[in-house]
Amino acid sequence: MRRQLTHDKSFEGKSGMTFNVQTESSSGDSCLEEEERDLTFYLKTKAEQPFKYYLCFDVEATCISGGGFDYMNEIIEFPILLVDSKSFDIVDVFHSYVKPSKNPILSDFCKELTGIPQSTIDVSPIFPVMLDQFQEFLHRHKLFYENSCAFITDGPWDIRDFITKQCSISKIARPTYFSLPWVDIRTLYSEFYNHGKCNIVRMLATYGLQFEGHEHSGIDDAKNLVRIAKKMWEDGAIFKTNSYLQLSIHRSRRRRRGRGCNKVI
Ligand SMILES: [Mg+2]
Repeated sequence: MRRQLTHDKSFEGKSGMTFNVQTESSSGDSCLEEEERDLTFYLKTKAEQPFKYYLCFDVEATCISGGGFDYMNEIIEFPILLVDSKSFDIVDVFHSYVKPSKNPILSDFCKELTGIPQSTIDVSPIFPVMLDQFQEFLHRHKLFYENSCAFITDGPWDIRDFITKQCSISKIARPTYFSLPWVDIRTLYSEFYNHGKCNIVRMLATYGLQFEGHEHSGIDDAKNLVRIAKKMWEDGAIFKTNSYLQLSIHRSRRRRRGRGCNKVI
């Protein structure tokens, strides 16, 4: 039977959210029946992902009340959750706090926002030392060479802005893996469900879930990102990379000339 590509269709996933999927249909009287078979197959089959692993990532950084885009944020928390793309389960965790080198004293605003006490920061490694430890973690899992993987973040800010600022402050070369395309889950979610872009709390709410832990704690933000990713995976989302450093910087500069940046760490 001749098959032809049709327009995107919307279906309801396990999460109760509707999502878009491009289907094929046949010409002729059995079109509807065949589309139903396609849908049944789709919902029972988890989509194969383009990467073996994903690294869910959400940094926290120094900040002050009213500090804008040009404030030189320094990373103070660096959590990475390693997720197996066959199950979207967490298989390992790298988590370190980081001592800022320029402004090692956290503002009251920053401590309250992130829940990170000064005493924790005082005994933490500086960024280059922490990065060496993280690279040992990558090596242990053979990531970015034998095992394909990509970062998942909420928006462009963590990799585009915070890593860029921190490498400049630490006077180190940007690691290659932070120049690779990554998955911006906020954009992926918006396109997959045909829904406006929203933050972690609002994405969770669409599944009837509440944020677990302390908002703006990096490790808790990252864990909640995994919960969203798993829901999307159950609904059949494909986690292709959708953010690129150069394109992202270009868009950011254009936006700064307009409305400005609304990043919340
Ligand atoms: Mg955060």
